[in-house]
Amino acid sequence: MSTTISPTLAIDTAVRARRERGERVLHLGFGEAGLPVPPSIADVLAQAAPRNGYGPVAGSHEARDAAAGWFTRRGLPTRAEQVVFAPGSKPLLYALLAALPGDVVLPRPAWVSYAAQAALTGKRVIGVPVPAEAGGVPDPDHLAHALATADNPGVLVLTVPDNPTGTVARPGHLRAVCDLAARHGLAVIADEIYAELVHDGGPAPRAAGHLPDRTVVTTGLSKSLALGGWRIGFARFPDGAWGDGVRADVAGVASEVWSGLAAPMQAVAAHVLADPPGILAHIAAARRLHGTVAAAVHAEFTAAGAECRAPEAGFYLYPDLGPHREALAARGIDGADALAGHLLDAHGVGVLPGTAFGDTHDALRVRVATSLLYGDTTEERHAALRADDPLSLPWLAASLGHLRTALHALTGTSRAA
Ligand code: PMP
Ligand code: GLU
Repeated sequence: MSTTISPTLAIDTAVRARRERGERVLHLGFGEAGLPVPPSIADVLAQAAPRNGYGPVAGSHEARDAAAGWFTRRGLPTRAEQVVFAPGSKPLLYALLAALPGDVVLPRPAWVSYAAQAALTGKRVIGVPVPAEAGGVPDPDHLAHALATADNPGVLVLTVPDNPTGTVARPGHLRAVCDLAARHGLAVIADEIYAELVHDGGPAPRAAGHLPDRTVVTTGLSKSLALGGWRIGFARFPDGAWGDGVRADVAGVASEVWSGLAAPMQAVAAHVLADPPGILAHIAAARRLHGTVAAAVHAEFTAAGAECRAPEAGFYLYPDLGPHREALAARGIDGADALAGHLLDAHGVGVLPGTAFGDTHDALRVRVATSLLYGDTTEERHAALRADDPLSLPWLAASLGHLRTALHALTGTSRAA
């Protein structure tokens, strides 16, 4: 078996290598939440350094209890026994796809790793287009058709809020999709890793509200607290026999592959998931910054004539340069791969092509991640978090200017500064 580096991680390495060579590259390729570690969390980690035992596979009782309380306060009553921790939610998604039977139904576009993991577990993917309003769930009418004709659908993955579109599924679409999942006996994996980052602060709709017995929720601290490199993820399994069985299977995979989440990281999770006021305030500030910067980048793309859903959560946009198709084709840009390659090589703008997310080759759609614009140093990132008007910070204004110039050159449009 051979596989390649995941496109998100690959573009991060490629952009950093170009920068080390002295190239000026605007890094819109990678969904790393570029914010500093709150000092109170760094203290908890330092104090937990002596914890060097392996501990239970699913996590310490302290961490699982904190996660149960965290879910319960967010409207999903949970016992500690329903929770499994892991080094990131990515391995949990992999273990779930390995454990659950049947083909994997994905929204199209969907985050890069679901289809890659399905392939690693030997599963087929059924891609279903998302509604015009928002991504992260399949369009219900298309899903009904796909399920009526599919051989062996088993698992439906939903991303609410969504990466790559930066939107939140409409409640009616989510309900309709969950009804279809119930009718066809599917398991639902609800990837809620961006749930704390809805820009207006509101809760995102959740699949477990509609299909409580068959929905496994995955999430973690990589996005809400920008702790991606600390690898703290956790899953909530449904109450009841089916949930118990899947949890045991996932714990079995965990025990053979990663043993457990690093013990000091479990101490961090236990602290954060108790919702101390300072942490909630930090997440609220991050949410405001993500919303402000994503909206500004959205304005640049729409001013350049792109079609793009307005950002509602997290730090992504999924613009479509389709309105410029003829002009781009005249320059040999006939699809997303060529578009992303041209943006990087000719304009120093790193984005990922929609093809990495399962989109069609001829669509002129790219994924834009806005979370590495906040600054390159810890000081700049703190300043961005604190600023009343982050867009006026010199480094952020310069990045938006770089993007404006690039889009102007690409599309021949111009926008008053
Ligand atoms: N799901 C989605 C939609 C993501 O964007 C990411 C990106 N990191 C993950 C899951 C995995 O995150 P992690 O493994 O850091 O928890
Ligand atoms: N999820 C992030 C992204 O979509 C990056 C991290 C990852 O893919 O593991 O860019």
